[in-house]
Amino acid sequence: MSLKENTANAITAIVGAENVITNEETILSLDPVMLSAFQKAHGTYKPAFMPLCYVKIASTEMASKVLAYCNENDIHVIIRTGASSSEGQLKVIDDRTVILDGSPMNEIISIDPVNMVATAQCGVPLAVLEAKANELNLTTGHSPQSQPMAYMGGLVATRSTGQFSTYYGSIEDLVCGMEGVLPNGEVFRIRPVPRRAAGPDLRHIVIGAEGTIAFMTEVTVKLFSYYPDEMWRNGYIVKSFDEGMATVREIMVKGYKPSVVRLYDKADVDHNYGSVKLKDEEAFMFFSCEGPGEIAAANGAAIHKICMDNGAEDIGTKAVDHWFIHRNDLCDITGSEMEAKHYRETGIAYATMEICANWEDIGKIYTDAMEYVPNKVPNLTMFGGHVSHSYINGTNIYFVYNIKINDVANADLEYWAVMDAVCDVVLKYPSATIVHHHGVGKARVLRIKEELGTSYPLLRTLKDAFDPKGIMNPGCLLPLEK
Ligand SMILES: Cc1cc2nc3c(=O)[nH]c(=O)nc-3n(C[C@H](O)[C@H](O)[C@H](O)COP(=O)(O)OP(=O)(O)OC[C@H]3O[C@@H](n4cnc5c(N)ncnc54)[C@H](O)[C@@H]3O)c2cc1C
Repeated sequence: MSLKENTANAITAIVGAENVITNEETILSLDPVMLSAFQKAHGTYKPAFMPLCYVKIASTEMASKVLAYCNENDIHVIIRTGASSSEGQLKVIDDRTVILDGSPMNEIISIDPVNMVATAQCGVPLAVLEAKANELNLTTGHSPQSQPMAYMGGLVATRSTGQFSTYYGSIEDLVCGMEGVLPNGEVFRIRPVPRRAAGPDLRHIVIGAEGTIAFMTEVTVKLFSYYPDEMWRNGYIVKSFDEGMATVREIMVKGYKPSVVRLYDKADVDHNYGSVKLKDEEAFMFFSCEGPGEIAAANGAAIHKICMDNGAEDIGTKAVDHWFIHRNDLCDITGSEMEAKHYRETGIAYATMEICANWEDIGKIYTDAMEYVPNKVPNLTMFGGHVSHSYINGTNIYFVYNIKINDVANADLEYWAVMDAVCDVVLKYPSATIVHHHGVGKARVLRIKEELGTSYPLLRTLKDAFDPKGIMNPGCLLPLEK
């Protein structure tokens, strides 16, 4: 019997035939839309490797038994939930992989308005949890652009961040506890306590591990009081991206707490905001403030004053309101026939890359990247960026780009080359990171050793300790070494 038949039969015996898909056409129809979208649009997509089978995991017990089987038999596993990850995390790269789909684990276990936490299984869509919380005038505070696509497991596993992160924090600030399964089938729980000092924070072994260490089956996240009608917001034009960055820095270091902080250069504005007209060097920025009305208003008034004192032009709320309404529209376009048609007709693909650095270096990185990347990758037709997540000690830049694809068959490599060029720039700065929130996946894995430097062996040791046979998403986050 072939490995494929053997594996499918054994897993079927564990989870039942209704939970195992072996038909290649069905498996292909479930392929993540983000993978090789350009080739798919051209009808030339053919994955290098097909999974042995696709398994629907409906309980912790199933996860445990299937993982134990795979571990024992050296079968590789790729876990997925929403399948919206953007860095090739779900790409199958060998001929002994099964896909474990955690999306059937979709129960909201509790919403606790006294202790301000929600516990959900890994397959709960964030949008569903957020809607349930909103019914109680609560919010998860987590709002990535992929909110309509992403599920709780993937959001925690990729160390995701949301558009309102400057106020609520990113996923690592929100996760209180979890249940998970190790590759050998052992189930563990990390209790959702408000804080603990019992040794290193074990949550962080799994948060951001991109499915390379454990299968997270359940997660408990914080909740916040929700005041959508009391939000303050406003937009501004500034003379340059640098001046905008200095204003954002002043707001952050003085201790104000906006929820949304966004600063766009002209290339990005022209691509995303037809309605805001900028002169060559100008930039567009906007802010929102949340929380109880008095706090939002006070934060907003102070932010407005800083902007005006720095010479910004007040352009009111029109463009900001537009962003709030349309901020997640990309999810409707991603993987759609409209996107495919655009790819076919123009031969141009759109992609992004997010990095982060301290206040001193971020402006230099932006300037260096604007010069270096278009030179290194001459088929770029647009290269710009925006700031979208700020901290007291620095901020991110989300580079956006259009690239004229030269060779459809190698489209993925062509836009990964842009990422690589950005990495060349960023890695020169010791205060900077090549990944702000999308995770490393298989797209940036070749730069992870440079990113982590002398701390890389810590990650390797963790991986080898928890997954000694290397069955969990090989080639993702850590390079293949064995
Ligand atoms: C249009 C668009 C916009 C985006 N915007 C943002 C954004 O604003 N902020 C942001 O942070 N990201 C963003 N992303 C990236 C992506 O949506 C996030 O990384 C998201 O967290 C992935 O969640 P998912 O459920 O789709 O995960 P998947 O794609 O299913 O999986 C992602 C990774 O997590 C692992 N994983 C999934 N479930 C589990 C589990 N139960 N246990 C262990 N590992 C697991 C997988 O193996 C994989 O490595 C965007 C993506 C798109 C397409």
